[in-house]
Amino acid sequence: MSFSVVTSNWFRLTLPLLLLAFVYLGLDSIIDFTKSNLGILSNLPFVLFFCCLALSYAFKQNHIAMVSCAMLTAYWFIQERLQSPLSTGTTILELSLLAALLPVTLVLVFVFKRNSTFIKSLVLYLMTLGCIVMWCYLILTHFYDGGFENINDTFLFVVPTVSKLPLILVLYSSTMVLVFAMFVMSLNRISDVVIYSACLLSSVTFIFFHIPHISSMMFSLSGVLMLTYLLSASHELAFKDQLTNIPGRLALESDLRHLGRRYTIAMIDIDHFKSFNDTYGHDTGDDVLRLVASQMERVGGGARIYRYGGEEFTVLFKGKTAEQAKVHLENLRASVEAYDLVLRDVDNRPKDEKEGAKKRSGQRKGEVTNITISIGVCDSTKAKGVYQVMKSADVALYLAKQKGRNQVCFT
Ligand code: GH3
Ligand code: MG
Ligand code: MG
Repeated sequence: MSFSVVTSNWFRLTLPLLLLAFVYLGLDSIIDFTKSNLGILSNLPFVLFFCCLALSYAFKQNHIAMVSCAMLTAYWFIQERLQSPLSTGTTILELSLLAALLPVTLVLVFVFKRNSTFIKSLVLYLMTLGCIVMWCYLILTHFYDGGFENINDTFLFVVPTVSKLPLILVLYSSTMVLVFAMFVMSLNRISDVVIYSACLLSSVTFIFFHIPHISSMMFSLSGVLMLTYLLSASHELAFKDQLTNIPGRLALESDLRHLGRRYTIAMIDIDHFKSFNDTYGHDTGDDVLRLVASQMERVGGGARIYRYGGEEFTVLFKGKTAEQAKVHLENLRASVEAYDLVLRDVDNRPKDEKEGAKKRSGQRKGEVTNITISIGVCDSTKAKGVYQVMKSADVALYLAKQKGRNQVCFT
C-alpha cells in the first residue's frame, strides 16, 4: 500500500472504525484474554501513552503530547475511581463528568499552536488539565457517598437499552466524534487524526462501560494508534517539505530508485524570484512557493511532484516520454502565468528586511502581480541513468532561462 493511501483522510477516518469492528467480532475471546493477562493489560495504556509522550517530545509534536496527557489522566481516573458498580456512590456522576470533559480537553489542544515551544505549551496545557481535575474534585465533594439513584429524574436520565451512560452524554460524545471526524476530512493533520481516534475510542469506552475491561481494551487501542501516527508523523517530517506541504528532496531521491525503463523528469525554476523577494518581501515569496506547489498538484498525467530546494521543483512522469508529458507541463506553465497574485496588506507585514520595506512602501493593498516559471525536460530515452537524465533536464532549464524564461525546453 502506498504511503499516500495510508495518509489519506478516508483511510485515517476508517482505520479506528475497522479496528473497532474487529474488536466487536472477537469480543468474547478478547475479554477472556484480557482477564487472564489483567496484570499486564490493565497497565498497558499507561506504558503506551508514556511512550507517546516521550516520542512526541523527540519529534516536537506538542499536540500529540497533550492528547497523551489527557488520555493518561482519563485512564488513571477510570482505574482509580470507576472500578465499582455504576449504581454505587457517585460512580455514575464521575463517569458522566469524565465523558463530558475529556472531549473538552481534546478541543483545548487546538488553543495551542502546533509549532509553539513544546515544554511551555505542554506545561500550560497541564495546568489547564489540573484546573479541570480540581473543579471535578470540588463538584464530587458536594455529593454524598449514599448513592445517586435519582439520576433518572434529572436531565442526566439513562436509557438502559442504549447505554448505562446518560442519553444526553451519548449524543454529546457521538457529536464530538463527528466534529473531530470532520477535521480529519478537511484538514487531515496528524493531530486531527490523533484527537479523532482518542475521542472515538474513549467515547466507546464510556458508552459501553458495562462491558468488562472495555477501558483497558479501548485505551490500549488508542495508544497503539497514537504510536503509529507518531511514526507516520516522523516519516512525514522527513519526506514532506514543511513550507509547501508537498514531498521534498528525500522523497524524490527515494522515488528515483524505483523507476521503470521509461520516465520523464522536469526541473522547474521560478523566474526572477530573487527580485520578487526583494520587492514584495520574503513572506510573500513563501506564499508564491505555496502557490506554485498547489498549481503543480493539478499537473495531471499521473505525475509526482517535489520541492527540489529553494525555488526549484521537480516533476516526475513514470512510464511517460517527454513528448507525452509536454502537454501537462505546458498547461502548468500557462496556469502559473495566468494566476493573479493578490498581495496581502503590506502595512501589517513585519518590516524584517530594511531594503524590501523601503521598496514595499509604494505598494497598494490588494495590488495584483503575476509570476512565471521556466521548465527543463528530459526523458529516459535521451540520457543513460537517472542522474544523467536529471542533469540534462537541468541543462534544458538553463536553456529556457537563456531563451527569455517562461517557457518549456527539451533536450
Ligand atoms: P532566475 O530567473 O534566473 O531563476 O532568477 P532568480 O532570481 O529566480 O534566481 P536565483 O537563483 O538568483 O534566486 C533564487 C532566490 O530564491 C534566492 C532566494 O532569495 C530565493 N529563495 C530560495 N528559497 C526560498 C524560500 O524558501 N523562500 C523565499 N521566500 N525565497 C527563497
Ligand atoms: Mg534557482
Ligand atoms: Mg529562479
